[in-house]
Amino acid sequence: MSQLDKQAHQRLQYLATLFERHPDGMVVTDAANRIVEVNPAFTQITGYAAEAVIGQDPGMLSAGHTSPETYAEMWQALRSEGCWQGEFWDRRADGNIYPKSVSIALVRDAAGEVSHHVAIFRDTSERKSAADQIFQLTHNDALTGLINRTTAESQLDQMLTSARRDGGLVAVILLDLDNFKQFNDTLGHAVGDGLLVQIASRLRDSVRASDVIARLGGDEFLIIAPDIDNAMSVSAIASKIRRSLAEPHQIDSHLLYATATIGISLFSSDGDDAETLIRNAETAMYKAKSLGRDTFKFFAATMNAAAHERLKLENALRLALEETTLQYAPQFRVHFQPQMDITTGRITGLEALARWQAPEFGMVPPSTFIQIAEETGLIQPLGDWIFWEACRQLRAFKDQGVTDMRVAVNLSTQQLRNENLPAVVRGALACYGLSPTELELEITESVAMHNPELTKAILGQLHELGIVLAIDDFGTGYSSLSYLKHLPIHRLKIDRSFVRDITSNHDDVAICSAIIVLGHELGLDIIAEGVETEPQRDYLKRLNCDLLQGFLYSKPLPAEEVVDFLRRWNSQFDD
Ligand code: C2E
Ligand code: MG
Ligand code: MG
Repeated sequence: MSQLDKQAHQRLQYLATLFERHPDGMVVTDAANRIVEVNPAFTQITGYAAEAVIGQDPGMLSAGHTSPETYAEMWQALRSEGCWQGEFWDRRADGNIYPKSVSIALVRDAAGEVSHHVAIFRDTSERKSAADQIFQLTHNDALTGLINRTTAESQLDQMLTSARRDGGLVAVILLDLDNFKQFNDTLGHAVGDGLLVQIASRLRDSVRASDVIARLGGDEFLIIAPDIDNAMSVSAIASKIRRSLAEPHQIDSHLLYATATIGISLFSSDGDDAETLIRNAETAMYKAKSLGRDTFKFFAATMNAAAHERLKLENALRLALEETTLQYAPQFRVHFQPQMDITTGRITGLEALARWQAPEFGMVPPSTFIQIAEETGLIQPLGDWIFWEACRQLRAFKDQGVTDMRVAVNLSTQQLRNENLPAVVRGALACYGLSPTELELEITESVAMHNPELTKAILGQLHELGIVLAIDDFGTGYSSLSYLKHLPIHRLKIDRSFVRDITSNHDDVAICSAIIVLGHELGLDIIAEGVETEPQRDYLKRLNCDLLQGFLYSKPLPAEEVVDFLRRWNSQFDD
């Protein structure tokens, strides 16, 4: 053998070894694309012995998933470039489908004609499923469609960045179902899975759209609430979630009752980064579990004391409301504070102010219980009751000879959102035989500003009924006058805070004077609240205020003292 022949022989030997031993599948086809040779890895991957495929077209391996365009592209590249790389879906001898990555090269003979095709391929199903898994792991929980822990942590970090910038409060709420294992063990995993899916959707419905919900694994969920007003409103969120989960769950033929234990941490007091906040929420949750499930705990002990008080108040409010609406020992009362007309000196209006005398707590200020009622949805029945009670009392005052008197009732955010409000108002007026002009409704400036379109629509309906509308606590809500101009209102109530220092603070004088002048320009009445002293009264008179309300004239009075007070007051003007 010549030296050259020897080298060529050696080369053939190591190429043959490569062909035999290489872990990738290899196929050689002839000019007509018939298989002439395959290696052992081919058999291992495809399940076909060499004898079964020799002489066949490699198309026999196809799973039928590859588009004709891909094949056309492949042949085009082979003709022009001599090689092609890509992906196919093939079918093994046992029928299973798998993805493979393939490189094909053309072999030309001395005359330049195509003599063979050589293909080398690798089964990529493992790599694909790993990639799929990684995708799932880093994005969504396959069962509930919620995001998972990794994604939640990164979203929380983003929220913390903006909270740091804007000084906002972020709540991290960790929720673990109680005794979930029992559902799985006794009713099977399909039922357990069904319950988790339903819980995920209840969570979605009980939080704001801007809140983030994640499933951390098993029966553990995470809710991240950015832009929290105050720490106490977090306990309102937790209560709402617990109430929503407590409704029975229909899963297949089973009616299941689920409870959850919740741990809460707050940015920035309980941690400065996502990991710490989630860990502290977890610690709080485990502490709550150890104290008996179906409850929630804050990470910070001081918050727990406050939340406990609030929860007690919330439960008492619920109970008080039940008793009141059943007309059984009402704990609520409506008091009335007189409003004086500066030009005539007469009392022409009464502001209805709610009072709650709670057996365990004593007198609870409305600023506290109205807020709780708002957060828990109890404001609807409570607000309706206050409204009907105010109308009922006005009827009683009139029956005792009171004339030319209007009652002003405060409306909260939620009440204004209720589309039934005009119907409730019409109903009460009709029931007590009152005219719409005897009724005034007060909404605070911040409420009016909060949802301008809705406010405008509802106020429009009330205005058409003929009811007087007032903007309460005016001057605190930064409303633009151009906006006010579009609302069908009749009256502005200057906030107490401006009246308080009117005799000593030049800014407050300027503000009161501007409100009065601009209000009059817009054809509105101006009433000042919180008038306690004669100097305050004189100042407001000089500024041309129309009506005054405050302790100087009277504190809010129980209904049974109103008629006497009005008789005494207005008798000064009788001749
Ligand atoms: P508001 O509507 O601005 O009511 C006026 C508040 O100022 C009342 O407090 C009243 O007692 C108090 N006030 C009246 N004159 C004076 C005064 O000369 N000096 C001082 N320092 N205070 C005076 P109250 O009754 O504690 O009510 C507080 C707030 O709670 C009310 O502010 C109102 O926003 C809300 N509220 C009260 N009753 C109801 C209600 O029935 N429904 C709704 N939605 N909110 C209510
Ligand atoms: Mg008011
Ligand atoms: Mg006010």
